[in-house]
Amino acid sequence: MSAKTPMAEDSTKSKNMNDLVALCKRRGFIFQSADIYGGLQGVYDYGPLGVELKNNLKAAWWRSVVYERDDVEGLDAAILSNKLVLRYSGHEATFADPMVDCRKCKSRWRADHIKNGRCEKCGSDDLTEARPFNMMFKTTVGPIVDEESYAYLRPETAQGIFTNFRNVLDSTSRRLPFGIAQIGKAFRNEITPRNFIFRVREFEQMELEFFVEPGTDDDWHKKWVEARIDWWKQQGLASDNLVAYHQKADELSHYSKATVDILYRFPHGLEELEGIANRTDFDLGSHSKNQKELNLKAKVMENNDSTAKLTVRDTEANTESVPFVIEPSAGVDRGVLAIITEAYTEETLENGNKRIVLKIKPHLAPIKVAVIPLARNNEALVSKAESIKKTLQALGLGRILLENTGNIGKAYRRHDEVGTPICITVDFETMTESENKIAGEETVTVRYRDTMKQERIAVSKLADYVRKFFNV
Ligand code: ATP
Repeated sequence: MSAKTPMAEDSTKSKNMNDLVALCKRRGFIFQSADIYGGLQGVYDYGPLGVELKNNLKAAWWRSVVYERDDVEGLDAAILSNKLVLRYSGHEATFADPMVDCRKCKSRWRADHIKNGRCEKCGSDDLTEARPFNMMFKTTVGPIVDEESYAYLRPETAQGIFTNFRNVLDSTSRRLPFGIAQIGKAFRNEITPRNFIFRVREFEQMELEFFVEPGTDDDWHKKWVEARIDWWKQQGLASDNLVAYHQKADELSHYSKATVDILYRFPHGLEELEGIANRTDFDLGSHSKNQKELNLKAKVMENNDSTAKLTVRDTEANTESVPFVIEPSAGVDRGVLAIITEAYTEETLENGNKRIVLKIKPHLAPIKVAVIPLARNNEALVSKAESIKKTLQALGLGRILLENTGNIGKAYRRHDEVGTPICITVDFETMTESENKIAGEETVTVRYRDTMKQERIAVSKLADYVRKFFNV
């Protein structure tokens, strides 16, 4: 064992949100948005490493939900939403959280988040009755501002899928069961955004609407709950930290017949990471019905309102029905927070020093490999490192970083903290005739993040070696 061999994870230290926030800022994962102007509450920006991690998580979801199946199509619908869509989906009337005001300090709170009936800011129990607060962001569209010229920023990506149902069906000739997947921004004017990127006003969702024959919906619901829990485990979340919670009747959204939330043990508690709802035929049914009425009223498509029908035709049975839909809806930002929470580890080394290491799955790591020349001003080392970086970059694994800072100890520490699975050091032995040459070949040192073990690998074998390590 070297002096640096990790002895133990510091089990006395549970995952602490402040540690994660500090790491995210220090290493360039996540910043408060507009922080030079004091920030904007409930809005965050993703930095150089955050954007990589987020993209990797989204790519893993897309791979699993679209590419690895043959019954799902992708979509990227607009964020600006026609108000009628959100009127007929029920959001204008019901997408609200209960809000209370503190009469003493004038602050506002989400009623179901208030503890012991007291204001979180001043402790007063002089609170108003709860009243509904609609969370949709409204904006005006076009140069003329009047009562009708508004649209919404979508509060969920789902409605873009429902309104494109007919378009996708007609352009792909799909039959039930099939799904439409989408990843994109959603906006909610949360009364009290909190817990870092857990509850924010601008976030991203990864949503699948999986359309099924009515009557088969309960089975499909179960299947999707299992599939989604498995997927989160494959992203590195421990089984012990994941709980399937079946919502009670009075907790269900207006569109849902049954919802199972996948809860994760975040630093602030066990909370929702993803919801899997059986939305029945509520949305397609509602949009079909209202489209038909609107079209008739406007006297357009009087004799041909079939485009308004969000139905599927069974030509054999000569029937037409509105499909039921199962919706696994995951938050990208909550996913990123869960991955960072799970991966954050503090270890005490044999020499008593501490090290922070982000034990993130290789496919999610923001930097896949760091290539480090041992001396930053040595032309031969740097140019060999550049050539190795180029070769590895061409493998298409993601970001391969040439780390030319000249301080190997600091470079290892930084890459442990940001979760880089392997570092490759180009040292003087790479360049000289030495006993470390394997069968006369140039070699480099490969160092592993989790074990800190090092081994020498022939440069000519590196590409294959790295490909195998990342399982591609
Ligand atoms: P919550 O009960 O925590 O407010 P929700 O049940 O309203 O969440 P859904 O409408 O089911 O959430 O949205 C699907 C997913 O979108 C959630 O599981 C979550 O991961 C994500 N999400 C929802 N609201 C937010 C938010 N304000 N900030 C970050 N992610 C969110």
